[in-house]
Amino acid sequence: MTNPILDVRDVSKTFTLHNIDGRTVSALNAVSFSLSPGEHVALAGSSGAGKSTLLRVLYRTYTAASGSINLTLASGNVVDLTKLTDREVVALRGRELGYVSQFLRAQPRRAVIDLVTRAGVSRGMNRSEARDAAALSLKRLDIAESLWDMHTAVLSGGEKQRVNIAAGLISPPRILLLDEPVSALDPENRERAIDLIADLSLQGTAVLAVFHDLDAISRLATRVIRMKRGSIVEDGPTADVFPHLQPAEVQI
Ligand code: ADP
Repeated sequence: MTNPILDVRDVSKTFTLHNIDGRTVSALNAVSFSLSPGEHVALAGSSGAGKSTLLRVLYRTYTAASGSINLTLASGNVVDLTKLTDREVVALRGRELGYVSQFLRAQPRRAVIDLVTRAGVSRGMNRSEARDAAALSLKRLDIAESLWDMHTAVLSGGEKQRVNIAAGLISPPRILLLDEPVSALDPENRERAIDLIADLSLQGTAVLAVFHDLDAISRLATRVIRMKRGSIVEDGPTADVFPHLQPAEVQI
């Protein structure tokens, strides 16, 4: 087995509800797993199981209460994400670690092509390379060229989500965390986005993803981690975790 790119050990996270008598909610309990380079792992489990919290703890939007998250960098050095300063985490985001949610968070007056190009530049591409890659991604996601110079604020929900995917997947980082990135797309655009996400594994990017439908999981993920009430209750090949799927459906 290849050395993991990410090794998560005994990670826990508790939220304190300050406006409800300081009550605490245990969102993650001693979560442990590892991720290999190029592997595509789906996080499954019902609403409230802790999937989004786990992705946010890995991206360090939230800090873990305990445990370690060891990331092997391109340089070969290993860093524990729970121990880094915010500044150090920001420096790792982009080339090492990316996060794509279901929402586009962008300055409303930023032009579509500019937003995606900037994402490529932030991952080390030069400007013309990034512009070409941005154009290619937008075309693959069927964003009409007439929209490229528009501000992101004028886009429809589905267009915003596709632009978000184009920006998140350009010059992909070594690990990509996806939180329901195709949730607002119609079937045709969903197919386009899934094709683009499938290419990530070929490029060696390790993906940890939450999808709200089994079809996306069965087509993209080779392994499923199922969570329940903040704990991992199953971790195995997709065909074992979802045995009712036909083997043909499980292959990409
Ligand atoms: P999932 O993504 O699987 O639907 P979440 O990670 O969103 O689950 O939520 C896990 C648990 O943590 C739930 O009980 C949820 O209510 C709680 N939770 C998530 N985010 C917060 C927050 N910011 N403040 C308080 N509780 C939260």
